[in-house]
Amino acid sequence: MKQYLLPENGNFYKANMHTHTNISDGAFTPEEIKKKYSEAGYSIVAFTDHEVMVSQNHLTDAHFLAINAVETITSDKWPGGYCYNKTYHINFYAKSPDITHCPVLSAKNIWQEHTKAYATPEMIEHPYKNHYSIAGVNDAIQKAKAAGFLVCLNHPVWSSQDYTDYMGLKGLWGVEVYNTGCYRGGQHDTVQPMVDMLRTNEHVMPVAADDIHSAGDAFGGWLMVKADQLEYTTVMNALERGDFYASTGPEIKALYLEDGVLKIETSEAFSISLISSYRYHRERRGTDEAPLTAAAFDLNEFIKQNNAHAYPRNTPWVRLEVRDMRGNLAWTRAFFLDELNGRGE
Ligand SMILES: [Zn+2]
Ligand SMILES: [Zn+2]
Repeated sequence: MKQYLLPENGNFYKANMHTHTNISDGAFTPEEIKKKYSEAGYSIVAFTDHEVMVSQNHLTDAHFLAINAVETITSDKWPGGYCYNKTYHINFYAKSPDITHCPVLSAKNIWQEHTKAYATPEMIEHPYKNHYSIAGVNDAIQKAKAAGFLVCLNHPVWSSQDYTDYMGLKGLWGVEVYNTGCYRGGQHDTVQPMVDMLRTNEHVMPVAADDIHSAGDAFGGWLMVKADQLEYTTVMNALERGDFYASTGPEIKALYLEDGVLKIETSEAFSISLISSYRYHRERRGTDEAPLTAAAFDLNEFIKQNNAHAYPRNTPWVRLEVRDMRGNLAWTRAFFLDELNGRGE
């Protein structure tokens, strides 16, 4: 029997989850973003302007879905310029198009004059106070989740963060493993922060996104979301469940478990890797002449051995990476032992 780890039915929709417009420091209007991304084959764009959430519901139609969102910045000491400074950049995505208020915003945090026009009365009268600390960020995550948001830690590597800055964060939905703006700016984000968090049993998902500010940041990293229809809450539920993969190129066409064997079908790939929580890793390799388009990994022994041990904290998982001939990657989310046992999460 096949157990689908990416849903068997539904359609794939291409999504850019990180976008700045001229509401904050982006070069394009929301309408121009819709046009550019639609022409490039995207169906979904999350609008994540700095410090303000401005509804873009009017852009949504049968072929395009606008997700309402915001990116907040909480910086450590800020002497300015190129001096020592670490920062949390966090995206909050509204799970319903009716949500108009994000409870972790403050009018005081808006640094651009023209953006101040978008401050809501709540942001002025009840400003949220950010703290650069694990407790401070956990408070923001908790409040935002309770108000109906998915929360993503953005580009931690670019932000000069390390283990001490993200371990202990609770309830994140995602973490960026690739950010086009950061990548093309010379500081490449990696999977390591996500992997560190997965090892403490935080079920964080891999996010690849553009963080577009201008044309140079476009179309580098995206999510492929599998959902029944291009409708706001349907898509947000699919994102929350993890019915997607992240990519900078390769396609994942199917992913399922059959009699303990994990099977994946892809576009032409140079390598397909299985990576686990602890020191069980495998790679299948093709060649330029004979690229891979599928791979199978027998997990029976992995599942059996892990079921035989009690894991009080670090629940085992596996995830996959696909690399094409040009070095572009696709990342699945992690599949934890309960799910591999067919029991869901
Ligand atoms: Zn950012
Ligand atoms: Zn950004």
